[in-house]
Amino acid sequence: MKNATGYVYDERYLRHDPGSWHPERPDRLRAIHRRVVLSDLIKELQWLHPVEAPMAWITRVHDADYVERFRQACEKQYTIFQSPDNGICAESFAIARLAVGGVLVACDALMNGEVTNAFCAVRPPGHHAERAQAMGFCFFNNVAIGARYLQEKYGLARVAIVDWDVHHGNGTQHLFEDDPTVMYISLHEDPSQCYPGTGTKKEKGVGAGLGYTLNFPFPPRSGDWDYLEIIEEEVIPALAAFRPDCLMISAGFDAHANDPLAHMRLSREGYARMGRVLAAFAKEYCQFRVITVLEGGYNLEVLEDCVEDHLHILLSS
Ligand SMILES: [Zn+2]
Repeated sequence: MKNATGYVYDERYLRHDPGSWHPERPDRLRAIHRRVVLSDLIKELQWLHPVEAPMAWITRVHDADYVERFRQACEKQYTIFQSPDNGICAESFAIARLAVGGVLVACDALMNGEVTNAFCAVRPPGHHAERAQAMGFCFFNNVAIGARYLQEKYGLARVAIVDWDVHHGNGTQHLFEDDPTVMYISLHEDPSQCYPGTGTKKEKGVGAGLGYTLNFPFPPRSGDWDYLEIIEEEVIPALAAFRPDCLMISAGFDAHANDPLAHMRLSREGYARMGRVLAAFAKEYCQFRVITVLEGGYNLEVLEDCVEDHLHILLSS
């Protein structure tokens, strides 16, 4: 038997143009969607159509004046916002809202019982976005807003976010570091070697949130078994003790050996294995409630392959 798996994608996501030189380019989603169609996965998935997220949910996580400055930067047709990495076009504000909306529509479908789990093929990505700072190609923290939405709209007590993007999700960590109801676990390249420079093992949360942030930095050239060992021996026991009501995955595929932006050595099969271990956990502990949100990944072939595998894992019962 197969699960009902949601798939969020919208052609409008292609309209966010950070500049022709930029690695976070529309072709990333074109490649994913083409594979989903050509592989016939599209026939098995529930295609979920996003609307722009209501401002009230965005400002639940981001400062209102930050949101307004971003809106104005797009309206004035600036080409970057706050950081040289964050290229924008006139439509970027609307499309960033639509990316958040993609995660929210997945949360709705999950909580209404329409789907068991979902994959959100959205851009721009989100995990570097701080409360009032755009960074690392990210403007709104899609996964963080989704976690708050699940808690406040649907009353979920505990949400866990596992972030396997090769870069540390500084934004997500900082938004939840004092909060014991959202566990943030990140596996990433050693911050002394790699953007954004946060995510040491010593960063474990603050105040009431102490112990609910877990960082696993890896030296450059770490591979599948390095990651899988940490997933099996550290991540799964921590998740099991936390007992989340929903698992969210900040899924960057830029730890793959062929990714141009980092120095990790994961394979396609390594990513699939990580997905299968987390899916097995979610089946046992939280009714297979998984919302996977695309973050980075800049080699198009790797992206297509890894997303296809991940969708099969979400569909498997
Ligand atoms: Zn990344």
